[in-house]
Amino acid sequence: MAKITQEQIDAVCQLKRDGVKHRDISEAVFGVRSKASTVWHILNKHYYDKEVVKAVGAKILVFDIETAPNLSHHWGLWQQNIGLNMTVRDWFVLSWSAKWIGNDEVLYEDIREKFDGSAEAAFGEVDDSKILKSIWKLLDEADIVVTQNGKKFDVKKLFARFVMIGMKPPSTFKHIDTLLIAKRHFAFTSNKLEFMTDKLCKKYKKLKHAKFSGFDLWKQCLLGNVEAWEEMEEYNRYDVLSLEELVFILAPYSNQMPNLDMYYEDHENHCFCGSTEWEQDGFAYTNLSKFARFKCTGCGAERRDRHNLLSKDKRKSLVMNSL
Ligand SMILES: [Zn+2]
Repeated sequence: MAKITQEQIDAVCQLKRDGVKHRDISEAVFGVRSKASTVWHILNKHYYDKEVVKAVGAKILVFDIETAPNLSHHWGLWQQNIGLNMTVRDWFVLSWSAKWIGNDEVLYEDIREKFDGSAEAAFGEVDDSKILKSIWKLLDEADIVVTQNGKKFDVKKLFARFVMIGMKPPSTFKHIDTLLIAKRHFAFTSNKLEFMTDKLCKKYKKLKHAKFSGFDLWKQCLLGNVEAWEEMEEYNRYDVLSLEELVFILAPYSNQMPNLDMYYEDHENHCFCGSTEWEQDGFAYTNLSKFARFKCTGCGAERRDRHNLLSKDKRKSLVMNSL
């Protein structure tokens, strides 16, 4: 493909501002109608992010938490049955990282100041309420959250801590869990964030633990190791960035994404990828109806109309399964 010039980029953005459709922009700038996807890529890079205030739509929060392990007395290593009276300290939240889609800032908070290397901090009760309150505010504000395994882990863990310290529940939100999308629509060798982002993401792959491998990172954080906390922060922030990249890659395959149209005042159809351009692509059929089918010109996500195209007479002639 010939290199796209700055003049072409400017022309594409100006035509979009003027309300011209992508295929017509393609013809005006590149001389052919078939470069709508190039137009979309230019707009995605140079127009949507910079000029369109996405906040008028849904507030979508990508987030991830890290927790401290439970501590207990135990007699062995393998298949232990640990009674409640053998526990020394319950888990708590160590850190969270979050990012609003459409805003470049990666937010992060932790409770590293609680860990001064003393036994009290390493093995005693630790107050995580400060960072629980700040993540609560973000969840309360969010219309939709994006997590990896958050339906089973992150949200439930946070809710457990919220209720334990007497907080009210945050306002409800919809939840996109990339682990559930992966399980439902794909057969990857592993559904772990590390594997999926390594294979699929170009910009942000989940960081592999560098200086402190595996559990050592958690142990060193609890012992107040400053370098370990720096790595925890980097790792937590990167998880959110790579998760954000991943959700846009997986989303076109999912038929369970929330309908973003609800969050806009306009009458456009808003794809999760940010595009509002759809082209008709055949029809979608149920056993008794026929609908126009559309594909997002940006990411290829599919949607269908709600208007049944079959005539009254045709509908009358249909028979269906008796049971
Ligand atoms: Zn799309």
